[in-house]
Amino acid sequence: MPSAVGLPALAPRDIVRSGLCIGCGACVSRANSVASRMELDRYGQYQPTGSPEWLRRGSPEFARICPFSPYARNEDELAEWLFPGAGERDAAVGSFRSAYVGHVAEKDFRERGSSGGMVSWVLSELLRTGRIDAAVHVAAATDPQRERRFFRYRISRTENEIRAGAKSRYYPVELSEALMNIRSKPGRYAVVGVPCFIKAVQLLRTEDPVLRERICYTLGLFCGHMKSARFVESLAWQMGVTESEIQSVEFRLKAPDRPANWYTAQLTLRSGQTVRKDWWHLADGDWGAGFFQNPACNFCDDVVAETADIAFGDAWVEPYSSDGRGTNVVIVRSPEMERLMKTGIEQGRLRLKPVDARFVERTQAAGFRQRREGLAYRLCWPRPGLKPRKRVLPNSQGLPIRRKLIYRSRALITAWSHRVFLFARLIRRPGLYIRWARLALAIYHGLAYSRGRLGAMIDRWGH
Ligand SMILES: Cc1cc2nc3c(=O)[nH]c(=O)nc-3n(C[C@H](O)[C@H](O)[C@H](O)COP(=O)(O)OP(=O)(O)OC[C@H]3O[C@@H](n4cnc5c(N)ncnc54)[C@H](O)[C@@H]3O)c2cc1C
Repeated sequence: MPSAVGLPALAPRDIVRSGLCIGCGACVSRANSVASRMELDRYGQYQPTGSPEWLRRGSPEFARICPFSPYARNEDELAEWLFPGAGERDAAVGSFRSAYVGHVAEKDFRERGSSGGMVSWVLSELLRTGRIDAAVHVAAATDPQRERRFFRYRISRTENEIRAGAKSRYYPVELSEALMNIRSKPGRYAVVGVPCFIKAVQLLRTEDPVLRERICYTLGLFCGHMKSARFVESLAWQMGVTESEIQSVEFRLKAPDRPANWYTAQLTLRSGQTVRKDWWHLADGDWGAGFFQNPACNFCDDVVAETADIAFGDAWVEPYSSDGRGTNVVIVRSPEMERLMKTGIEQGRLRLKPVDARFVERTQAAGFRQRREGLAYRLCWPRPGLKPRKRVLPNSQGLPIRRKLIYRSRALITAWSHRVFLFARLIRRPGLYIRWARLALAIYHGLAYSRGRLGAMIDRWGH
């Protein structure tokens, strides 16, 4: 793909100050110097940091590789380069050759995965068949208290390592170290990531021939939003323990006898004891309310990792959402991934059924509302800093008042959950945050779900 020329210079600080930094670490990996690194900020979100000169130094290259840069190629342009001749192009799911719903049938991939175990299966199969030397994915930190983080990107070189990394981590991670390792060690790699991370990898591959050659496969995870590290602290507060007691975190405990979408979080303490709570009973456990969401996610328009060779999500429609064993939806974009799926199905190792784009879209209905209708509305709001350039145009026409209030309250919860939590943490009063979160959630639920007289009042308001 030829490099875009004539772009304005952009600096990491411009993106950070505009609330558009997702903390992927692409810029730091490219700088590859002691002048910059990725660090968790006071809100528990990764941000690039380093010498003031580096942060301020504008460059057209940074404008091209940052996934939230208004000047970088968008997902459609990247997909055109990556998947020429891919069968269908769909406004919701992007370029794709085929899509499936189902799960892994062999070994205990499904039991050990968050959904149907497909991501770990594909990584293991790529390794087993010699297509890759290593998988770049997210695993638990070995010594979280010393590392001061619970999860991080890891390069796994055996099936056991890959399988030990299964499960979704709703926790900030960054790619700079992993990308620098790929650059320094020849080999063939597969990278797993949420949509903006995969976009960052693909943008880097347009610039960097070494990454282009070595990153042979990209596996995308559908994404609702990224959470800050404070979500884990909040889990600890609400389970009556402190963060310093935690040895490991499980965001989605699997229980075959309960619906897949009834999430249970479990903390394993250093003492060996475990504590757990259903997300429904958490003050901030409603995913849709946007607690601890990274602000950049407000300006994302890719739900299903449109630039990944293959992408995976949960089948959030019946009968699958009631099946606690977990079920994937899979979108296949590259011919090689298509062959891998077909062979797996023929050999009875994958139990997958073909579906169409509308089925996939229905499984992510809330995500698409937030990133299409909601994004169009948010783009109308005045904001300082850089203006995001999205595939969705600003528009608030015809949006019912209730939907507007939902998007407004979600954005307020996102913004204030970081601040109220920080304040409660500073004055050591967890109860302050928890009470605020309960109130915020009650208001959000009132707007989103009220029927009867209150519902009618909200719907009439503004008419
Ligand atoms: C932040 C986040 C938000 C998500 N939002 C949605 C959503 O809105 N809708 C939806 O349908 N699905 C969403 N998913 C994807 C879903 O949770 C499952 O990860 C996906 O269905 C794959 O399940 P599996 O059983 O096939 O994967 P598994 O076999 O469990 O393997 C998961 C793989 O993903 C890697 N991984 C885990 N967390 C991360 C991370 N943060 N970044 C990069 N790699 C990671 C693991 O290392 C492992 O290799 C989200 C995932 C994440 C991490």
